[in-house]
Amino acid sequence: MKIVISKDAAKIYSGTVGTQGHINWPWYYCLVAVAGETLEVETNHLFDDQFNAAGWNDDKIKYGIEKIIKHKAGGSLFPNEEKEIRQGLGMGLRIRGNQVSRVINDVRPFYLKCRWCGKMSSVTEFRVGERCPICKGPDNILKSLIKKSWESIDYLAERYNLQQ
Ligand SMILES: [Zn+2]
Repeated sequence: MKIVISKDAAKIYSGTVGTQGHINWPWYYCLVAVAGETLEVETNHLFDDQFNAAGWNDDKIKYGIEKIIKHKAGGSLFPNEEKEIRQGLGMGLRIRGNQVSRVINDVRPFYLKCRWCGKMSSVTEFRVGERCPICKGPDNILKSLIKKSWESIDYLAERYNLQQ
């Protein structure tokens, strides 16, 4: 599963912070570094409104830093800023859904997530609204990871065939 980051990701982030808010600049520049890039998604923890991107290696981080420097039109980064950006890109970023332009091989339709414990279950074994098989409490209901009504098995079968 991969995501294509919006070319305007940093602008979208600074727009949501607004004029009253405080922009986290290392985070802003991390988004500049990954803008337009295709990133691998860490699928052990899926969300309906955001993605955990996998971390980058040294070469890709260097490329990202160069992109930021270019974005700043020749300006350099403060050493502490660069350290934070390197750490963020190395560990992987939590990317908001509105900063993503495309999701490739989306596996979210194949899982449900418990509203209480956050553990994921397969749609082939469970349905939306059923009790979580892991924490089993009365209000521990399984929800879809897709905001649209993509829960039906028919839909999944159709989608799966399309991908093959
Ligand atoms: Zn649970």
